[in-house]
Amino acid sequence: MSRVDKTEGSIEKAEAVVDGVDISGHWNRMLEPRWITDYPTEAMDWVTSLDGGESLRACYQCAKCVPVCPVEHVGSYGPRKLMRKVQLGNNLMEDPDLWLCTSCAACLRVCPKEVDMLQIMPAIREQAVLEGHVPPELAKAFENMGRHGNPLGQPSRKRIAWTKGFDVEVPIMSKIKRKVDVLWYVSDYTSYHPRGHDAARAMARVLTRLGIDFAILGQEEKCDGDSPRVAGEKGLFEMLAEENIATFDKYEFDRLVVMDPHAYNAFKNHYPALGGDYNVLHYTQLLVDYIDRMEFSETLDMEVTFHDPCYLGRHNGEYEAPRKLLEAIPGVKLTEMPHYKATGFCCGGGGGGMWLDGFAADHQSERLSERRVKEAVEVGAQTLAVTCPYEPSRFEDAVKSTGNDGSLEVADIIELLDRAMGLSES
Ligand code: SF4
Ligand code: SF4
Repeated sequence: MSRVDKTEGSIEKAEAVVDGVDISGHWNRMLEPRWITDYPTEAMDWVTSLDGGESLRACYQCAKCVPVCPVEHVGSYGPRKLMRKVQLGNNLMEDPDLWLCTSCAACLRVCPKEVDMLQIMPAIREQAVLEGHVPPELAKAFENMGRHGNPLGQPSRKRIAWTKGFDVEVPIMSKIKRKVDVLWYVSDYTSYHPRGHDAARAMARVLTRLGIDFAILGQEEKCDGDSPRVAGEKGLFEMLAEENIATFDKYEFDRLVVMDPHAYNAFKNHYPALGGDYNVLHYTQLLVDYIDRMEFSETLDMEVTFHDPCYLGRHNGEYEAPRKLLEAIPGVKLTEMPHYKATGFCCGGGGGGMWLDGFAADHQSERLSERRVKEAVEVGAQTLAVTCPYEPSRFEDAVKSTGNDGSLEVADIIELLDRAMGLSES
């Protein structure tokens, strides 16, 4: 008996032996002319017609991205699957997959066809934003950024709350009215989040002790806009960038120093196209040149592992400055996790993920930050060192939810420097 495929000419013989080899059933279809696909092409045509969506069509399903995509580890999502979904005619506008990519760039690093999820996802998300298909928690963060200049919805006057009652002077550009060496862009979570205040104060103490001439923007500072840019709110990014550029351009400074790798990425790679071209440094890049001047009075005596932020590492190639600072601290023993430097594992906060934890929880078996904390514990670390303002609170939550409270500390590198230099309050 033979089954005739819907495609004329494609015959599958139930019994066939060729040169003594049994190729009965589906094996012998390869001997007959047949169509492999007759899928509708509209979905793929639509994605690849978007500015930035073009490269999705280049995917040839090689699966190199499968083991590196962090979301593949905790759910049924990845660039390869996404392409296949679109190829099968699925519209992504209302598909949860659209919001799961954290823009970590792990897939782009290995993809032989340069399928660029960092362009594809924002392009499709932008259309979803225009049509109002945005998860509510992300929509709220967008609204807060547009209205208040920060995703937490805090008033601008509270940006400097961390400087109140603080025994170190934190100069503000609008008040000192002179050129400075370092304009320190503090960033949203460092300014507003209670856990961020620890890093802000540590940074102020370390800069002061090193004699670095610095000042901040204070209430004039606004969100850098990089995360909404990747999350599909390009208009919001442009608005915030234009406001920040207008503020930066009011003042004179030699170096623009940031604590946030997302701000670093925005200022270095995206503000120049909008007219804002600055000498941008992540704070670890600034401080690495001051190691010889650091006087350490404490020995920390701890096993430390370091989490590479995607936007400092893979996106911008800086792996060494944070490690050199950690290795300079007396008593710190640095142990790498299996995923480190270019293979670093995303914390889940990029690409809008910072405001999609609840949404991600509904579509993943666990949070990426929990995966990362488990990895840190497995290498025997006592401290998980970070250098992105998203991370202390994210990872501390994950330490608790994975049952590691009390056995793993999360600390920004600046907090460890502050402690080892004998400056910290605690
Ligand atoms: S690595 Fe690139 S070409 Fe290969 S399956 Fe993934 S997206 Fe497609
Ligand atoms: S950028 Fe990262 S999270 Fe997004 S698809 Fe690629 S590997 Fe996965």
